[in-house]
Amino acid sequence: MKLLNGLAASLSALLGPQTARATAADAAKPPGAAARHRHATEAMSDFGRDYGPNDPVTSAPGLIWPCPCGGTPVMRFELHDEASREPYHFVQCVLCDREGRPALLPWEAVAEWDRAYPNLKVTMGSFPFFMIGELSPRDARTRLLSIRHDLERRRAETKLRSREGVVVGKRYRERIDAYLRWTIVAQSLATAHLRLQQRELAEGAVAFRGAKAPNLVPSLGQPECSA
Ligand SMILES: [Zn+2]
Repeated sequence: MKLLNGLAASLSALLGPQTARATAADAAKPPGAAARHRHATEAMSDFGRDYGPNDPVTSAPGLIWPCPCGGTPVMRFELHDEASREPYHFVQCVLCDREGRPALLPWEAVAEWDRAYPNLKVTMGSFPFFMIGELSPRDARTRLLSIRHDLERRRAETKLRSREGVVVGKRYRERIDAYLRWTIVAQSLATAHLRLQQRELAEGAVAFRGAKAPNLVPSLGQPECSA
């Protein structure tokens, strides 16, 4: 039941306003177009996944991870050029001036920064999307890969439907893109935790061998001559 509730919540988070807009828009269209639109939104509503309660676009500004130097990064923006007046965003550390890759949208800039600088103080349990907190880093990576493939398929379907003339809301497309980017950030974090785990295991094994059988080391003798 908990899973179903979570699923319903994530679906409504993903599709809520989109569905309402679709209904209003359908009324103004010929019946054929409305039917095609309904078909598109219904087909895309069966995500079958719980991505958590957080919004992948609007919650991004609060998700900038600390800089590896320990400093606090902030969001900045600059203009592409004087002609287009189009701003781009990037995250920059106030202490060491390190910059994340620039992006058009703020949430993209946050995801770029977090992907590039996974912070091990961010536990898997505190990652705000995809409900991966109770998984080991290895299992989390497996789940994330599956979610990523699913989202990529959804995005491809959306593009195909757009080409067929089916109206797919900009908000819906942006949320698919944002979730996709967050899967990549989560994979980066899971990989960092997995490496840490492996390093700690290796160090633990060395310490254990050293503590249990310190007298084995002299018995290895001199290395054999390979000539
Ligand atoms: Zn820094």
